[in-house]
Amino acid sequence: MLLRRYRRGRLRAREFPAKWIPILERNFLHYHFLPEGDLRELLGHIQVFTAEKRFFGGKDFEVTDEMKVTVAAYACLLLLHRETNYFPGMQTIVLYPTEYLAPFRERDPTGVIIEGYQVRSGEAWQRGPVVLSWEAVRRDSRRRRCRHVVIHEFAHQLDYESGYAEGTPAIAGRISQEEWARVMRAEYQRLHRAALLGRATLLDRYGIQSPTEFFAVVVEAFFMCPRALASDHPQLYGALKTFFRQDPARDWLPIPGQASDRSTSKRLGK
Ligand SMILES: [Zn+2]
Repeated sequence: MLLRRYRRGRLRAREFPAKWIPILERNFLHYHFLPEGDLRELLGHIQVFTAEKRFFGGKDFEVTDEMKVTVAAYACLLLLHRETNYFPGMQTIVLYPTEYLAPFRERDPTGVIIEGYQVRSGEAWQRGPVVLSWEAVRRDSRRRRCRHVVIHEFAHQLDYESGYAEGTPAIAGRISQEEWARVMRAEYQRLHRAALLGRATLLDRYGIQSPTEFFAVVVEAFFMCPRALASDHPQLYGALKTFFRQDPARDWLPIPGQASDRSTSKRLGK
């Protein structure tokens, strides 16, 4: 434990590889608007993450530094300002070149088992790997919308750390369980209602699948469109701000020429 802490301290203090900076400039939107202190902290986390986690390419896909650094940057955004153990339940990231077909088996509300194949851009396994489509990662990394597949899957990993995935991460006294559950339940119902009425929503409607998916979707919005989330869903924003110990709507630099960070639409298979 002590040795690991020492090793991580050394990794964080190491000079950030100069050849990785253009990767961040190109693929990591937040590189341009994170405050300097946050960015410094993040660069340290990226060094630990890329040294400790194993990356594999599915179907003989060759994993490059660009892929590792891009995934690490978005995953580590979720760790800023907190004592972190770097997603301890997850050691492996598998990358596919494009979205991929995965078998699924689900029970519908009437009890009927549905089996088939589903197109996926990513998935996260409890005490297992995160699987990502590089095409989806790159797409989400180059345009400013309320979603990002890496943030989504690593939000699931945080959720798993509490021992069970129910949209309730280990919140450890930062906000009461009751308060967290009250806000999440109200917002979950609100998204359900909007979806039912066919209204446009800031949050990805994929979130109505389950409380677990809802948590992943709201974390995406928190990091990808914080100002819109703070203005449209102040209570939800407040709960996430307390949990993450970050206030991006207040602290991140405004992006020149980008008046709004709103978007609406739907993505399948997470
Ligand atoms: Zn998901």
